Amino acid sequence: MKIKNHTDYHQLKQLIKDWATQLGFQQCGISDIELSQAGEYLNKWLANKYHGNMDYMHRHGSKRYHPEQLLPQTLTVISVRLDYMPPNLTPYQELLDRPNKAAVSRYALGRDYHKVIRQKLKKMTQKIEQQIGDFGHRVFTDSAPVMEKAIAEKAGLGWIGKHSNLINSKTGSYFFLGEIYTDLPLEPDKKATFHCGTCTQCIQDCPTNAIVSPFQVDARRCISYLTIENKGEIPIEFRKAMGNRIYGCDDCQMVCPWNKFTQNTQEQDFHPRHQLDDTDLLTLFKWTEQEFLNNTEGSPIRRIGYHAWQRNIAVALGNAKATGNIIEALQAKLNSCSDMVKTHIEWALGELVG
Ligand code: SF4
Repeated sequence: MKIKNHTDYHQLKQLIKDWATQLGFQQCGISDIELSQAGEYLNKWLANKYHGNMDYMHRHGSKRYHPEQLLPQTLTVISVRLDYMPPNLTPYQELLDRPNKAAVSRYALGRDYHKVIRQKLKKMTQKIEQQIGDFGHRVFTDSAPVMEKAIAEKAGLGWIGKHSNLINSKTGSYFFLGEIYTDLPLEPDKKATFHCGTCTQCIQDCPTNAIVSPFQVDARRCISYLTIENKGEIPIEFRKAMGNRIYGCDDCQMVCPWNKFTQNTQEQDFHPRHQLDDTDLLTLFKWTEQEFLNNTEGSPIRRIGYHAWQRNIAVALGNAKATGNIIEALQAKLNSCSDMVKTHIEWALGELVG
């Protein structure tokens, strides 16, 4: 197996899967690079302007669904998945029912998954190199124009549900994906089959009706987009529906019947930091910018920045049960925040005190 031209690719594929397990991934599959159907979906989504201000979705053109244009010589993709649900959390629905608590998307409670997955994938490529010598490759995790869900579906890791997330019949949908583009002629795995059936629970229960039709999410209405990707104001029409969701939204996953099979993560890195799984909105709103930077170091939350963080919490406080402490805290920030945050605080005070 030392010389690439004489490699036993059947054996190498099995070794890659074994290494994936040793590195802590729950599953690993191989996909070819024929993604024309996914490209059609993407172009329809972009034509409908469902991407909002995510201009980067346009920017790379067909590179997204032509892996060989992103990395020349690519023949196959190694696709992996890693469970992220930490054990012993306050249930998400319980948080939503307590409006003075903060609801943070479960994937963002611990360490930034980009770093965790990238390190593991790098180790995987080193193992392959030790086995066969140099090979063409690049690792990705939500980091470049890569159609990771379509690739994972082709690699047999799960099917794309009507909410557009990947679902695995053994573990639901609370997992991250990562990819290695390679020039290795590995045999592709079988594409996963679709098991949503006639269910439409996620479409019905989306708080902002963002799933406009099966597989088509209008990001401009999606709370995940509004609280994370969106850099500007949150449109007034969605503020009430946001409730206490201050970073992302898990509703479409929470109501999905396949998530009764959720497996807890084996990664200590994804366990909650700073009790983000069960904290009062007010505590988080009172963080200074320095505290925000300290407390979100190594967390995906840091990327939205302090102003967007305050903006999101201000809206959530406007949806909370009014208390003297909340009103005082909102008023106290009015003169020391950005103009964008100020308009959200004013909205919140209008909701609380009329
Ligand atoms: S809630 Fe139902 S329709 Fe939506 S992704 Fe899950 S199974 Fe599919």
